[in-house]
Amino acid sequence: MTTQTLPNTKIAIVGYGSQGRAHALNLRESGFDVTVGLRPGGPTEAKAQADGFVVKTPAEAVKDADLVAVLTPDMVQRKLYDEVLKDNIKPGACLLFAHGLNVHFDLIKPREDIDVVLVAPKGPGALVRREYEIGRGVPCIYAVYQDKSGNAEALALAYAAGLGGARANIIKTTFKEETETDLFGEQAVLCGGASSLVQAGFETLVEAGYQPEIAYYEVLHELKLIVDLFYEGGITRMLEFISETAQYGDYVSGPRVIDAATKARMKDILTDIQDGTFTKNWIAEYEAGLPNYNRFKKADMEHPIEVVGKKLRAKMVWLSANASQPDADDATSTEKAAAA
Ligand code: NAD
Ligand code: MG
Repeated sequence: MTTQTLPNTKIAIVGYGSQGRAHALNLRESGFDVTVGLRPGGPTEAKAQADGFVVKTPAEAVKDADLVAVLTPDMVQRKLYDEVLKDNIKPGACLLFAHGLNVHFDLIKPREDIDVVLVAPKGPGALVRREYEIGRGVPCIYAVYQDKSGNAEALALAYAAGLGGARANIIKTTFKEETETDLFGEQAVLCGGASSLVQAGFETLVEAGYQPEIAYYEVLHELKLIVDLFYEGGITRMLEFISETAQYGDYVSGPRVIDAATKARMKDILTDIQDGTFTKNWIAEYEAGLPNYNRFKKADMEHPIEVVGKKLRAKMVWLSANASQPDADDATSTEKAAAA
């Protein structure tokens, strides 16, 4: 890779949400020539302009780009590719994704004359930006699906480095591995598993007559301390910091909550991801206008732990000052929910 020429690479970032904004800002500061492609009048256009970017329509933005990063929601990428990108990306350019779903499950069949790569930061956009600003980075994984130029891997690596990923770690993967492990992680552990575990713990205490305020601190608020220890030093570090009583309780009760049957269900979830069942159902749900998604989301947001949590967090004024930016701003999530 020639570090002199790669920063001259013209990058078009399509989408300016969680990942789009972070990628655009980090890459510009790393010396790349960045243009943002958005639908005129869309919810994030003003934000990109306020950040000093030239904003064009997706078709115009990608026309003379050497590298096109598709950072719109996964469910709109197929239509965007078929209707706009396919006919406007210049010959021999590089098409980049931050998640492999559309390519891996054949929803997008990329033109044969282009490079197709993946660069996925292992963290939300707000963190990708914050870490970069303080001189650090979020680990990135990358993959090459199609290498027409012979330069696809170097481009993916340069992009990942431009995001700040090289300061942390860059690991090579495949579209299959990234897509399947990403879906599994968010479903079984990070989002689905963790939130269901917290809700079930809260319900157990409240149904047994304990105060919801105390249950909230025990099963949600204190989770941060534990996760910070995992992050810094794994389970070993957590065990160093908790009392012997907490450790003994962990050893005898953890396996009663998460047992072989739980793991068997995790394997079923993984199978549904691998054989495309999850993606097929998600596309059908999206195309039907998100009826179940909206119902599930409403139930989560109205759960008693949210009611008590809102009250308790209001007393911790520093929380709002340090709050993470949501992955998508309100307009974008509303748009997601209203889409199809
Ligand atoms: P997002 O919902 O935060 O932002 C989407 C952006 O795309 C917004 O600017 C929206 O206005 C724009 N947009 C929507 N439809 C469009 C269209 N038809 N044409 C042009 N622009 C359009 O999305 P995100 O969470 O940043 O996800 C982007 C990609 O990054 C996805 O592939 C996702 O899987 C991947 N990813 C996300 C995360 C994360 O933590 N959010 C982490 C790694 C990878
Ligand atoms: Mg992920």
